[in-house]
Amino acid sequence: MIRNPPPWPNNCKCAVSITFDMDADSLIHLEHPSDSYRRVSTISMLRYGPEIAIERILNTYERLGLQQTFFIPGWCVRQYPDVVRRIVSGGHEVAHHGYLHENPIGLEPAAQADIIDRGIDAITDVAGVRPRGYRAPLYNFSDHTFDLLVERGFEYDASLMGDDIPYLLSSNQHELVELPSHWGCDDWPPFAHVPDLKYEMPVRAPSAGLQGFFEEFDAVYQWGGLFVPVWHPFVTGRLGRWSQVDRWLASIVEREDVWITTMANIAEYIRLLHRQGKYEPRIDTLPYYSRPVTD
Ligand SMILES: [Zn+2]
Repeated sequence: MIRNPPPWPNNCKCAVSITFDMDADSLIHLEHPSDSYRRVSTISMLRYGPEIAIERILNTYERLGLQQTFFIPGWCVRQYPDVVRRIVSGGHEVAHHGYLHENPIGLEPAAQADIIDRGIDAITDVAGVRPRGYRAPLYNFSDHTFDLLVERGFEYDASLMGDDIPYLLSSNQHELVELPSHWGCDDWPPFAHVPDLKYEMPVRAPSAGLQGFFEEFDAVYQWGGLFVPVWHPFVTGRLGRWSQVDRWLASIVEREDVWITTMANIAEYIRLLHRQGKYEPRIDTLPYYSRPVTD
């Protein structure tokens, strides 16, 4: 089913990296800049992430001996510095996710560069490490994103959806590891209902919503792929959902043939295999198009 699955380390059958995008209340301030402060209930729902869910998630990871990746907008890093330090002190990775969760599509290159630089500065100041990976807010990797990431020494991107396994993005003699995911592994469609953000979905029961993720994992396990759920602390970190994820994760750890690690470790491993000539990742050359396709 997968043409060229990577040889995962220690004879593991597949790789898993659970990614949490800790957007917190950046979303409401971006969407409603003039009156976000009046929308107290929505802010409380979004703050549930850093205030309540993160500790629960970190406790599960600590019990199971896992290190995972958190993509955090720079504004959230500065707004919730203690939470970020707790994440780092657990051995987890903090990666880049914009500044105030700005949508890169439509931004001029200079404006997008400024946002990326402010995000790098925030993570470096608070977490004490420079981010190695990037996920565009809303997955909106723009036609400038590749160059901006390469210029700043990023090692991987996690915004694209072009494969079931890691691959390389290539442009102008430069390469970046892509660790793809897709909307079927994102928790907004089954669980998020945020009228203030014009996102209204019928919320599914924890078991029904999570079943989709677990089935995605089962296929990845069977065929040797990469499973990257894109979760949000205020969504999947809620009590009913995380109770089930906690049990599921424990069962995966028990198998001992699933490589569960940070995104940075997976990107580094793929680059190493490639450099040593032990594995040839697929290469996607950018840009796909450089002007509107009209005929
Ligand atoms: Zn986000």
